[in-house]
Amino acid sequence: MLYPRLSLLFLAAAAWAQTHPTVDFTTKAGPLKLTAVRHASFMLEAAGQVIHVDPWSQGNYTGLPQADILILTDTHGDHLDPKALALLRKPSTQLILPEAAAKQVEGGKVMHNGDTLKLGPFTLEALPMYNLKRGPSEGQVFHPKGRGNAYLLTYGGFRLYIAGDTEGTPEMRELQNIDAALIPMNLPYTMPPDEAAEAVKAFHPKVAIPYHYRGADLSVFQKALAGSGVEVKLLDWYH
Ligand SMILES: [Zn+2]
Repeated sequence: MLYPRLSLLFLAAAAWAQTHPTVDFTTKAGPLKLTAVRHASFMLEAAGQVIHVDPWSQGNYTGLPQADILILTDTHGDHLDPKALALLRKPSTQLILPEAAAKQVEGGKVMHNGDTLKLGPFTLEALPMYNLKRGPSEGQVFHPKGRGNAYLLTYGGFRLYIAGDTEGTPEMRELQNIDAALIPMNLPYTMPPDEAAEAVKAFHPKVAIPYHYRGADLSVFQKALAGSGVEVKLLDWYH
């Protein structure tokens, strides 16, 4: 009776791994699939390539493939987690990260705000992500300008904005032609949903996906963008 039990276990594990919410985007080069893992952690698949962004071992990586490309936005534990990196990194994995993160992980390619990098069929542009006012104490911010990177990832003409841990900066508001945007909204580290909606209205992506939102009321974000023409796509990032 060993084999039926094993196969049941296997099926249970496979079903468990498949519970992550996904979105399929259509691009000129073919589908781009986003899998929400947890908080700011997600996986992209396109052109037979696997990209993991900010993997965090609090997410369930059972059954998910290792990374061809690994992208980190910042140094905090929910974005830079050595345990998750060890799990997903192969010898051939290309690791992209801000300079501050490169002090903690070896062998990566550093991108500064404003840098552009071609990675096979993908183009990656590093953009600023920072707090305008919120910080741990007077005169300090959680994310100073220049330390972390937001990213604009382009594939088959499709422009995906990965905002990182940020408030609604002028640079965000000036973005143009964004197809989908991952937007953080949690206090005290980033911004509340009403501020996030204000910033999103300013650059008007086709689709806005809240992420990194633990504890926030997403209905505020949804209501603020109702009728704006921006489609709000809610995924359960804390499943
Ligand atoms: Zn964070």
